[in-house]
Amino acid sequence: MSEKYDVVVIGSGPSGYVAAIRAAQLGLGTAVVEEWVDDKGKTTLGGTCLNVGCIPSKALLDSSQKYTEARDRFAAHGIVVGEATVDVAAMLKRKEKIVDQLTGGIAACSSTTGCP
Ligand SMILES: Cc1cc2nc3c(=O)[nH]c(=O)nc-3n(C[C@H](O)[C@H](O)[C@H](O)COP(=O)(O)OP(=O)(O)OC[C@H]3O[C@@H](n4cnc5c(N)ncnc54)[C@H](O)[C@@H]3O)c2cc1C
Repeated sequence: MSEKYDVVVIGSGPSGYVAAIRAAQLGLGTAVVEEWVDDKGKTTLGGTCLNVGCIPSKALLDSSQKYTEARDRFAAHGIVVGEATVDVAAMLKRKEKIVDQLTGGIAACSSTTGCP
């Protein structure tokens, strides 16, 4: 199969997907080439930032902050929650869900129907 494009963007990280969306908005036939495969063997968009960088790290930091607030700060507000514990599996599941939502959003933008 061979197709012709006006613009081919290599990489779908924040640099690539923004460039590709803009090129498409300008009416250029645009393709994105991505080699990233996630741990389920599926090609995924979003690059370092969405898959392993900015987004997942902030999701985990948010969870960590909530834990320390519950452990160390709630009592001063008169909120009693008992002993705070960490469920790492649940924390990681939440992080994965956020990553899936955001990488899925980029995938939706790259479909023929455009960004939701
Ligand atoms: C832990 C961590 C936390 C971070 N937190 C933040 C933050 O809070 N705020 C912030 O601004 N930045 C943060 N960053 C930095 C941010 O992730 C990068 O600045 C950003 O991802 C760079 O975007 P990019 O599109 O240039 O490159 P990348 O996101 O690395 O994307 C490049 C893409 O190109 C693909 N690619 C490369 N070569 C090829 C090829 N030959 N063929 C096909 N595909 C190819 C790669 O698979 C990848 O998907 C963080 C980084 C890390 C590691």
